[in-house]
Amino acid sequence: MTGLVEKLYETGDLADAELKSLIETGDESAADLLKKRADEVRRREYGDKVFLRGLIEISSYCKNDCLYCGIRRSNKDADRYRLTHEDIINCCENGYELGFRTFVMQGGEDSYFTDEVMCPIISEIREKYPDCAITLSLGERSYESYKKMKEAGADRYLLRHEAASDELYQKLHPEEMSLANRKECLFTLKKLGYQVGAGFMVGAPYQTTEHLIADLRFLQELSPQMIGIGPFVPHHNTQFAAEKGGTLGLTLRLLGILRLMFPKILLPATTALGTISPIGRELGLQTGCNVVMPNLSPVRVRKKYDLYDNKICTGEEAAECRGCLQRRIESVGFKVAAERGDAIDFKQGESK
Ligand code: SAH
Repeated sequence: MTGLVEKLYETGDLADAELKSLIETGDESAADLLKKRADEVRRREYGDKVFLRGLIEISSYCKNDCLYCGIRRSNKDADRYRLTHEDIINCCENGYELGFRTFVMQGGEDSYFTDEVMCPIISEIREKYPDCAITLSLGERSYESYKKMKEAGADRYLLRHEAASDELYQKLHPEEMSLANRKECLFTLKKLGYQVGAGFMVGAPYQTTEHLIADLRFLQELSPQMIGIGPFVPHHNTQFAAEKGGTLGLTLRLLGILRLMFPKILLPATTALGTISPIGRELGLQTGCNVVMPNLSPVRVRKKYDLYDNKICTGEEAAECRGCLQRRIESVGFKVAAERGDAIDFKQGESK
């Protein structure tokens, strides 16, 4: 098994059957070597820097109905909120003072946030903080909408593809959603010049190793700047309440594999990873991750952005979150980078 890790390290790819063995292995020496090689590649490309992204969860209203998600529209018990223009600007002010140079506005697909509402928010942040990157994560929108928001000043867009196999995608989403549309959005975003983040959940219900291989192959085709993966964590008000969540071991194996397949990728150690293990994010950082996304949302709404059960970091002020993550990053030998942290292979104006 360690031979496969070396082959992946040297060539950046493996055949499907080899990937399958590596994804499924319980071999500890392979896991250790994967961690070591992933760390080596990440240090070669990005040194010991960890980039911070200040996450502002702008709305828990969602017109979508993804079966795994706690804020899906059919969860009648969800506590809904949306931030105002002023709330969002205040979060950025707070974040800027704390040293953040990327703001991520994420939310459910809330029809309130039309382009007419979003664009003035984006341009105000663009004007006030010319040295910051603006990232959006607002789900599927039209070409025109993505274009207007880009022109207003957005730089990056996070849209996990969720599952690159039609069959699995359909099992996790309501009938009216389609993988084809999700993919179309991602290619559109790239064409418009956004730095793009895709990704998927690890250990989602019905997910097999073959589905994970399909995810890796799709990522090779898309070639995004960032890949966000985290374990699936059940939410008590969904039909997947009684399902098992994704495991730490499998998530770490996939993070290591991603770093070796995509040496220059921005790879976050996600909140979901920190939720399933108290040292999940630290282990992620040691296995090739180089991004963390501290929460900048006002504390009064934190618990309401309730994607899955036991989500961490819902009680602290932004400054505490920032401090806590800085300590965690330094505890495993890395440094917080006070910069925008663009992907090293991304050139402005490039499109593919
Ligand atoms: N509406 C936006 C943001 C979605 S929330 C969009 O469509 O992109 C961000 C991510 O949280 C999702 O892409 C999904 O992969 C993840 N997520 C949702 N429910 C989850 C759960 N139960 N466990 C783990 N991750 C979950």
